[in-house]
Amino acid sequence: MAHANAGLIGPNAIIRVAETLRERLGDDAAHDIFARAKLEARLSVPPESMVPETEVGALQTALFEGLAGEDAKRISFEAGLRTGDYLLARRIPKFAQFVLKRLPPRMAARTLLSAIGKHAWTFAGSGTFEAKADYPVLVSIANCPLCRGRHADEPQCDFYAGTFQRLFETLVSRNTTVREIECEAAGGSACIFEIEWPKNAAQKAEHAPAAHRQRELT
Ligand SMILES: [Zn+2]
Repeated sequence: MAHANAGLIGPNAIIRVAETLRERLGDDAAHDIFARAKLEARLSVPPESMVPETEVGALQTALFEGLAGEDAKRISFEAGLRTGDYLLARRIPKFAQFVLKRLPPRMAARTLLSAIGKHAWTFAGSGTFEAKADYPVLVSIANCPLCRGRHADEPQCDFYAGTFQRLFETLVSRNTTVREIECEAAGGSACIFEIEWPKNAAQKAEHAPAAHRQRELT
């Protein structure tokens, strides 16, 4: 059964791209991109469960072939941010978030990466996820389903970068930056993301909202 889910990815990789395209470029552009990926049906009826990773790859290919490079990267990244928002709202237990927000960034990163690793099959499909919880954090996805089969001059897995960005900036350090430093589409051995934040403890405290801090004092 371990392989029953190989090659499937959570529906956010379709739904959030549709949402971002519609809001940023309009319904016609969203339709064009989904048609190019042969996924029109997914636009009219958003998927409610895991989808084949080939659909996610086809949609990313359509984005990067159908839009100018910068637009494709921007849409893909924003869809990743929105996926992060969804995970924070619906999937990551509130108590775990409460704890992570109060841990020193490196400890929070270690804990978050281990949770992400356990759920890697939901976003990496048949790709291989690995994480090094050093500083900066390095996350790699080999045989990456997002950019598989494409060739490009620059990294193209902005959807993952956006998801990591939102999770780390919310739970680890508000000034996190994520960069895809190697991408298989651009000749890399894997898609490798470098995640870092200023090594300054004060960064951590700022993202506890004032109301929460007040409640802790009473
Ligand atoms: Zn990549």
